[in-house]
Amino acid sequence: MQKGQIRVQTENIFPIIKKFLYSDHEIFLRELVSNAVDASQKLKTLSSIGEAKGEIGELRIDVVLDTKEKTLSIIDRGVGMTGEEVDKYINQVAFSGAEEFVNKYKDASIIGHFGLGFYSAFMVSDKVDIHSKSFKEGSGVFWSCDGSPEYELYETDYNDRGTKIVLHINEESKEFLEAARIKAILERFCKFLPVAIYFSEV
Ligand code: ADP
Ligand code: MG
Repeated sequence: MQKGQIRVQTENIFPIIKKFLYSDHEIFLRELVSNAVDASQKLKTLSSIGEAKGEIGELRIDVVLDTKEKTLSIIDRGVGMTGEEVDKYINQVAFSGAEEFVNKYKDASIIGHFGLGFYSAFMVSDKVDIHSKSFKEGSGVFWSCDGSPEYELYETDYNDRGTKIVLHINEESKEFLEAARIKAILERFCKFLPVAIYFSEV
């Protein structure tokens, strides 16, 4: 008899996540906005119990379309991530920071669960960048991945508390560079969320 641990080959799983994570590609926006909402709710919770000090200011989420650069960005003013957190929560596919937070703080307002949602970004993107600055001490961070399992991660002077996810929209997903399309998705999925969401074009 042999017993063991099933292993995963990232190079082979990545294309499957990209193609089949959701049959409906537009779901990426719901997933990324949900993460932005979770990050904002986490900050509220941590602030209410004194684990986050100082003013939290206006918690808002901005969805910004740049048709010239062919990018769509989702920007929040939530907890942000340190480099270590990016390594833990982003570089580990199917590890849910949301679930971890719910277990620790019994916070019922958190949406995330399976630790896969972020990767739906690659269904519509050639490359995904993360700029983040945690509410905790420390510098900003930058993470980037072009959909191969290789990423880069380094410290930056990004200084806006929270996270900016920049999607470099791929050729087949050009429809997501149309303002009307994005607005319609936000209307449908993001209407009843506890944080205000603003759409704009640059
Ligand atoms: P889930 O939301 O189910 O936990 P995701 O794949 O959507 O899984 O995200 C993985 C983790 O990455 C989140 O739980 C969170 O810890 C971190 N994360 C993703 N987006 C953000 C964000 N905008 N701000 C802070 N942390 C984030
Ligand atoms: Mg999520």
